[in-house]
Amino acid sequence: MDIKTATLKDLRGALDGGEISAPELAQEYIKRIKEINPEVEGYITVTEDKAMADAEAAQKLIDEKKASPLTGIPLAIKDNICTDGIKTTCASKMLEDFVPPYDATVIEKLKAQSYVLLGKASMDEFAMGGSTQTAAFAKTKNPYDITRVPGGSSGGSAAVVSAGIAPAALGSDTGGSIRQPASFCGVTGLKPTYGRVSRYGLIAFASSLDQIGPIANSAEDCAVLLNAVAGADEHDATSARKSVEDFTAKLGQSVKGMKIAIPKEFFGDSTDEEVKGAVMQAAKEYEKLGAQLVDCSMSSLKYAVAAYYLISGAEAASNLSRFDGIKYGLRGEGKSFDEMIKDSRSRGFGAEVKRRILLGNYALSSGYYDAYYRKALALKQQIIKEYNEIYEQADVILTPTAPTVAYKIGEQETDPVKMYLADICTVTVNIASLPAISVPCGYNAEGMPIGMSIVGRKFDEATLVQVADAYQKNFSVTPNKYRA
Ligand code: GLN
Repeated sequence: MDIKTATLKDLRGALDGGEISAPELAQEYIKRIKEINPEVEGYITVTEDKAMADAEAAQKLIDEKKASPLTGIPLAIKDNICTDGIKTTCASKMLEDFVPPYDATVIEKLKAQSYVLLGKASMDEFAMGGSTQTAAFAKTKNPYDITRVPGGSSGGSAAVVSAGIAPAALGSDTGGSIRQPASFCGVTGLKPTYGRVSRYGLIAFASSLDQIGPIANSAEDCAVLLNAVAGADEHDATSARKSVEDFTAKLGQSVKGMKIAIPKEFFGDSTDEEVKGAVMQAAKEYEKLGAQLVDCSMSSLKYAVAAYYLISGAEAASNLSRFDGIKYGLRGEGKSFDEMIKDSRSRGFGAEVKRRILLGNYALSSGYYDAYYRKALALKQQIIKEYNEIYEQADVILTPTAPTVAYKIGEQETDPVKMYLADICTVTVNIASLPAISVPCGYNAEGMPIGMSIVGRKFDEATLVQVADAYQKNFSVTPNKYRA
């Protein structure tokens, strides 16, 4: 087994078969992290001691033949997911020294399987961005070309998987933050249905859109990870009271007869020709496998980015009002209470976060509420309606994950509007609470990965995994230099 390319299944087999012990495996990853992370900067915190202790405990279970699917499996966790006793910074100055006194529910669930924590992965500050360059520290690079962005906001999670310094990771997705970095880094990312995974312990960005999900080397690995973290949670009232199925259940089933919708608006002028070409080529592969392509339309797509930034901004402004320098986070200075809060927030938040707070408060203020926020909510209903209409004639929807491949650092992330518009392919999925998976489907002339997204019906992640896997089985990955 080569850990550079190993899937979770390979690792499970090697651990259970005694080919490698959990501490040896953890040690190998830590060694690679020490070599590669200074260049890629995917991790904010590397938890070497914890990883070794976790691995020793896991090995006992493996020796007793009591291993669960993730026992002894090393993982990276996005740094907005609370880990008891381990810094959780949101890549922000505000939370630079924040050590949560509790675990997020997803972490409790991973611990119940005795996983191994490798470290906390970098991200855009408070998950706001699409490049991981709004991070206050650890501005992650793309493993396929370190002069380019890894995407975001879960850019750290995607990059560490892509560079082979974690076999899989958890990210979070509010408007595309699992799928777009997965696409930019040539790996697979699954954004579950809203409510599928508990958000308890996920530092909130936009509560009606946020969802935790896996980034891994394959759809199958994403399903294994989702199996571990999904489920209703009494700590999160929006978690779905739905029994958790086995998301690997449909693996290997044929896609023959399945209807795949192609909404034409996703293939417009703003999408690169090479991206369109690769996604349409994948559509043809599905046809060869017996699926039927269905043309369809989503006419409200042109308003989706505006609706998303109004809704997410409004919720962000409200969620981030808790950072006042008093309860936790950076403590500012000042002679009065007001001065202290002002100083804390001025120094604790970066430019992008401040921009969202301003936008959100503006949209919610009296006089503008009806003109902006209420309109955005109406658009949300329209987008849901259009998705429902498409699902009357199709099983899944196929789109590009992003209009372009990963761009050069400094090229786009300094122009907020340009960056917001680049979220066009992903935001409607969050607005409509749907699940979607991004899968590598090609490379452009410069060798940068291209991703396609398969969008499913609510709670139909098992079908997404099936459809993604059917393609992935015949797709050959071009590894980056860290994995070659
Ligand atoms: N790029 C989008 C934004 O900046 C999505 C972020 C996310 O999904 N967390 O808001």
